[in-house]
Amino acid sequence: MGSNGHPTRGATIWPQQRDRARAPRPRVQLRLDAPVTELPRITTTDVRSLRKLGLHTVRDLLLQLPFDWESFGAPTPIADLTSKSEARVLVRVVSAQVKRTPRRGMLLTEAVVADELGSTMKVVWFRQPYRADQLRAGDRLALAGTVRSSRYGGLEMQNPHTERVDERGPRWVGELMPKYHLSGKLTSRKVATWVDATLHLADQLEDEIPEHVRRSHHLLSLAEAVRLGHQPETDEDWRRARDRMGFAELLELQAAFLMARRRIAVERATPIPYRQEVIDAFKAGLGFELTRAQKRAIWDVYKDLEQEVPMNRLLDGDVGSGKTAVAAAAAAMAHHCGLQTVVMAPTEILARQHLHKFRAYLEPSFPNLGVELLISDLSAAERRRVRMSAASGHCALLVGTHALIEEDVQLASLGLAVVDEQHRFGTRQRELLRQKSAGGRPHFLAMTATPIPRSLALALYGELTLSLIDEMPPGRRPVETQVMAPDDRDTAYELVRREVRAGRQVFVICPLIEASENLEARAATVEFERLRTQVFADLRLALVHGKMREKDAVMRAFRAGESDVLVATSVVEVGVDVPNATVMLVEGADRFGLAQLHQLRGRVGRASLRSYCLLLADDPSKTSLRRLQLVAETNDGFRLAQEDMQLRGAGELLGARQHGMSDQAMASLQTPELLSEVRQEAEALVAADPDLTRWPALWRAAELRLERTSVS
Ligand code: ADP
Ligand code: MG
Repeated sequence: MGSNGHPTRGATIWPQQRDRARAPRPRVQLRLDAPVTELPRITTTDVRSLRKLGLHTVRDLLLQLPFDWESFGAPTPIADLTSKSEARVLVRVVSAQVKRTPRRGMLLTEAVVADELGSTMKVVWFRQPYRADQLRAGDRLALAGTVRSSRYGGLEMQNPHTERVDERGPRWVGELMPKYHLSGKLTSRKVATWVDATLHLADQLEDEIPEHVRRSHHLLSLAEAVRLGHQPETDEDWRRARDRMGFAELLELQAAFLMARRRIAVERATPIPYRQEVIDAFKAGLGFELTRAQKRAIWDVYKDLEQEVPMNRLLDGDVGSGKTAVAAAAAAMAHHCGLQTVVMAPTEILARQHLHKFRAYLEPSFPNLGVELLISDLSAAERRRVRMSAASGHCALLVGTHALIEEDVQLASLGLAVVDEQHRFGTRQRELLRQKSAGGRPHFLAMTATPIPRSLALALYGELTLSLIDEMPPGRRPVETQVMAPDDRDTAYELVRREVRAGRQVFVICPLIEASENLEARAATVEFERLRTQVFADLRLALVHGKMREKDAVMRAFRAGESDVLVATSVVEVGVDVPNATVMLVEGADRFGLAQLHQLRGRVGRASLRSYCLLLADDPSKTSLRRLQLVAETNDGFRLAQEDMQLRGAGELLGARQHGMSDQAMASLQTPELLSEVRQEAEALVAADPDLTRWPALWRAAELRLERTSVS
């Protein structure tokens, strides 16, 4: 579009509407597979931002629909405009000129515009001197944006969305303006421009939904959905486009799960027979009574282990619900029949904690069951020793981090692979872990401390069978949770002080800033400095955020009691165990999901000490406080997850990105019947044609999902 000498052309959203009246729009010669670098007028920064969003090719770009639309409503006469409101006006240019800002000398275009009734206002476009050349007196414009009072009196708009209007009237300004997921310096307009330049390729997209399925569910074809999703005529168009994309995604996922299940079902694992004396010895050595939920889960696991088909189970239970003991019970059974267990955790701290727990649970009754640790933070000699011990079969239970798959570890007779916080690993990583087995395929147990509703588990982890641990070990005091308005901050700080004086430790969580980890890190640093210098000058404070390299070291020091207050972004969510921490203070609590708050709360109350969770809301409105009040009222993570899903959608519950699921697919999950319909369709398709040879597009999409289901 830059080639026709009109640099502003690319700047409007539906240029084709104007272009039709003038020259035909030059089509960009691209293929669907072309990398985004070939898009018109794209910068290297843009390319990087797109990649961050997972958009690598033109196809990726087209398949990402706007998640919402900005609407400015009907045009307002200038005389009716008020300062600080969002508005849309239809005007003619009276005059336009290039100016420099007085202080910084920035070039801008300043215009005076008038509406039909003759009222005038000023419009300023910063850093766009070229606009002045293109605006002639009498040109019609549609403008949308925020109205302010000008420093020189009267009203003005700054950098409004701008569209030239021809005889047919404005096409988009004020009507609808797409909102795309963005990162870096991307803008929705840039994305819309690229989409517009490539949208004619939509016809070449292969539809992954078989036609008969599409017909019976009244779904748009992929080409239609892409066209209407980006440039709808009506709300209904956009809604139908999104529904279709959501359906397709769920179908791909379910097909992927079924394929994965089938693949696993033909594999052979070594059956691990159930032996009563093993579980009896295990229980005797534990030092506590298993909860009913733990017993149920262990029973589920033992039934699976006896099969020749490898177990493929997800253990879902809140932080502190005692999942480790279930894994240990399985390891004991495996050990009894001569098989090794490997346990992979997402961080070194967690791996070390596992090491201690497994030793404590198993050593008393199974003195020969050697437990070893493999992380990169060990001396070369120690790592060599551990690898040898694993390879010789001497070590029965090997705990570790990614190091387990990265290093050249072999296990003599791997029977069981356990992954903790499984959503933090990709499918490929889990797969690599399973391949550590020299013989058949090991049984597989995944664990997650993110309670999720059953329907969601089915959508996300459909290839796994689910065991819920929905009960906490007895004797644990519930964390006293209080919702506080911003004015109560001093009361909260008082409590922090009191606890630190009593020798306890405190987490302070900074508000969540969705847009950027950088911003979030910066905000946390500012809050840390404020607390350190102005509020808790006499206490020992430490800071940890996602952008820090020495995260682990800071956490370890906190755990060792070397600081009183740990100021953190939500990174501490990862199951770190600091039994001496008794206060969890969450700033800007209203920005978090309920389930997320529940997770944060789970960081305290790990010992029998009286513990507190203080939820400070930025937004003191009744609705916001009432929502938070739910967290204070219940300690049931599954219930809060369910509430979150209803209140804010599944995407909010999990962080859609994290699971590689789009927000439209997440949105479809709010209709549970839809998921079961999709599942039935997937089952029917796979039953009719196990390798989906008749539906290659679906097969490819499902394969891709299996590969891509990875995170961070
Ligand atoms: P999770 O991994 O599910 O977050 P853990 O397995 O780390 O939880 O268990 C949390 C704590 O509770 C541990 O200190 C563990 O020893 C203890 N625990 C586990 N099960 C029981 C039980 N049935 N009774 C008492 N304490 C238990
Ligand atoms: Mg755990």
